[in-house]
Amino acid sequence: MKRKFIHTVFIVVSILLFSCSTSSTKKVNVEKLIKEMTLQEKVEFIGGYNSFYIRGIERLGIPEIRMADGPVGVRNPGPSTAFTASIALAASFDKNLANEVGAAIGREARSKNVHIMLGPAMNIHRAPFCGRNFEYLGEDPYLAGKIATSYTLGMQNEGVMATAKHYDANYQDFNRHKVSSDMDERTLHEIYLPAFKATVLEGKAAAVMTSYNLVNGVHASQDDYLINQVLKKKWDFKGFVMSDWVSTYDGIACAKGGLDIEMPSGSHMNPDTLIPAIKNGTLDIKIIDDKIRRILTMYNRFGLFENPDIAKDIVVDSATNQAIALQEAREGMVLLKNEKNFLPLDKQNIKSVAVIGPNGDPAVTGGGGSSFVHPTGAVSVFDAIKKIAGDDIKVTFAKGVFTGERLPEGFFDHFNFYIKENGKKVKGVHADFYKGTKLEGNIIASENFGKLNLEKEQMKIDGLPDENFSARFTCYFSPEENGTYWLGLAGDDGYKLYVDGKMVIEQWKNQGETIRKYQADFKKGKEYKIEVEYFQAGGDAVIRLASQKRQSQEAGPETYLSQAISDAKKADVVIMSVGFSNETESEGSDRSFDMPFKQNELIQAIEKVNPNTIIVINAGGNVNMTPWIDQTKALIHAWYPGQEGNIALSEIIFGITNPSGKLPVSFETKWEDNPTYNSYWDDDNDLKVEFKEGIFPGYRGYDKSSVKPRFPFGYGLSYTTFGYGTPKVENKTIKPDQPLKFSIDFTNTGNVDGAEAVQVYVSDPVSSLPRPVKELKAFDKVFLKKGETKTVPFELNKDAFSYYDPSKHDWVIEPGEFKILIGSSSVDIRQQFSVTVN
Ligand code: BGC
Repeated sequence: MKRKFIHTVFIVVSILLFSCSTSSTKKVNVEKLIKEMTLQEKVEFIGGYNSFYIRGIERLGIPEIRMADGPVGVRNPGPSTAFTASIALAASFDKNLANEVGAAIGREARSKNVHIMLGPAMNIHRAPFCGRNFEYLGEDPYLAGKIATSYTLGMQNEGVMATAKHYDANYQDFNRHKVSSDMDERTLHEIYLPAFKATVLEGKAAAVMTSYNLVNGVHASQDDYLINQVLKKKWDFKGFVMSDWVSTYDGIACAKGGLDIEMPSGSHMNPDTLIPAIKNGTLDIKIIDDKIRRILTMYNRFGLFENPDIAKDIVVDSATNQAIALQEAREGMVLLKNEKNFLPLDKQNIKSVAVIGPNGDPAVTGGGGSSFVHPTGAVSVFDAIKKIAGDDIKVTFAKGVFTGERLPEGFFDHFNFYIKENGKKVKGVHADFYKGTKLEGNIIASENFGKLNLEKEQMKIDGLPDENFSARFTCYFSPEENGTYWLGLAGDDGYKLYVDGKMVIEQWKNQGETIRKYQADFKKGKEYKIEVEYFQAGGDAVIRLASQKRQSQEAGPETYLSQAISDAKKADVVIMSVGFSNETESEGSDRSFDMPFKQNELIQAIEKVNPNTIIVINAGGNVNMTPWIDQTKALIHAWYPGQEGNIALSEIIFGITNPSGKLPVSFETKWEDNPTYNSYWDDDNDLKVEFKEGIFPGYRGYDKSSVKPRFPFGYGLSYTTFGYGTPKVENKTIKPDQPLKFSIDFTNTGNVDGAEAVQVYVSDPVSSLPRPVKELKAFDKVFLKKGETKTVPFELNKDAFSYYDPSKHDWVIEPGEFKILIGSSSVDIRQQFSVTVN
């Protein structure tokens, strides 16, 4: 198949490229370098700088190393190919695809001289609210681990380091710096650590990033147990550990706890804190040397001493990367409902399609926050449907709901503010800068700027630190006409806007670039004093201010709805493009179960006038479907499909692509059904959330409960059917350290080509400690032409049968009988057999 061809070519090219870059590489003597570094240099080295860099030391030939955000493309510097959300990659259940995606992102990173990518991300999904679920790989640690491992291997094969993040148990984004994820040792090892373990041991990830949250009361960036004892000792991790951006609290505790580099700068692990501690014996210099050794050893492994300019020999084939992004979307979308084979649509029978919903145009490519990639080009649902439907089908678009007026493109070019110099009005803004993020103490520097549209480079001011600073910007506004104006601000990190001394916008938090607007009536000729307060805590720095007269008023909500209803009535088929977007589901906060902007009501209204409606959802997980699901003929979960994804969606709708994604997350009917219900929010504000469900999140919980999910883990429909042959088992009695080998014939028994994500679960019916009814321990994606049969081999090693025994602080296998269940989903088991381990 075409996809397989792309894969093979890439593996070959990747191996060639990276082996070219490593074969001639001279290794540098790291120990010698460590000896040659001064104490000051050593300590400075373990604090990042300039937001995304590890500093170079020219006199020692240590190159400057650059990082960029992943995991769904190279976020900075952009634009780049925007791949699907990671959750869609998990939904593909395709390790080869994960390898291709990792490699494609690796090549793009390389072409931008990015040496370290900040991904893959693999935190376990507990509930649909987490604002970053879309960046992660679902609820199952084995699936997450295998997908992350393949992605990491692909990326690192291109000579770019991968970073497994966020270590560990980052399951939410509310109050993320303060809330502790509390759980017992077994839960930690069985659910929240395996994906990292696999990515480190099998994927050989070069780096690990700690999480914002605390784990069992300890900040992840200084967690001796997680970093030193588990990661470095138990798993023998040889790479380095970095902090998440601005998530360190105590330099000495971080140094001793195993953190190797503080990002984005050494605000705690710095000379002021660490050198006295080293000198007075509180901190052993060997601890610092080990950090440097780990980082430089990775430079050696990736050939960076000899060839820091990794962009030199690479030209990115954008068309190929886009093809991989498209394939990722094709394989990740999940067909959840298809009553009476409503899909695929037959072009011959259709004359008109109405695309309705806020996500229909422009394209929604990804969720929000640090992973959001500005695409090199993106196709909306509306445009993709027009393209795939062809000229004979009329396609209309209506947004259907009012989502608020957005500042127009190019808004921040409109700077109409002035300062007064010698009694004259001069376009510009006056700035006073302070050390620290609270506008306290002496003014460190003052400057006038021609406009308030500043990024990090423009705020490099003598005496001002790169981060941990604040500023007050002052100017005046005097409109030329009476009317309603928008004053818009964008900031990374926090800001406040005052008009004539009154605060009208408060966005005072550590955040990626976030836009807010203030709308009010302003009088012609009147002078308004404008003040902007701003702080920069770390990472990128941005502050922008602009104004514009409000454009003609947008229509009210009723007009949106009536237009949509009128389109729906006239169309043969409606495609509803609904859900969340990078504005409503994002890092930095959690989201609701209900889709925003009254989209449930919109769907109900449309289904009433046109039952031939297909619902397409963008979200990082489940949403409340109860208000409309019973009336719905076809439902596709499209996650965030990346820049090419709506083409994949249209292909699925018109039968050009056969859907093959399966849910990497159980979809609850209602929130109360979720095993983490009652232990997700910090209801008592004690900054602790106890993971009461223990080792039973997701399908592990539903399997032992009478409550069942609406759509189970591993579920997804196809336009064809698959036959599962009888397993051929090599040996039904094995020793604990012997692999269990078996194979199965899979046949495409339907009328179109397709792919089946086959899942292998292991069940241990009798055990000393309670175990889940079954756990995923192998999977494969089998591509079959209609009528075709393929024999697929599987191998289960001892990990597949073990559980973590907290009394032994280790994994154990209890001899006895195990069941091997082979299924099309976690509740659709097609074949099974027993095996004895003794
Ligand atoms: C995120 C990380 C990201 C980092 C750098 C943080 O806010 O949690 O995932 O890599 O910023 O942008």
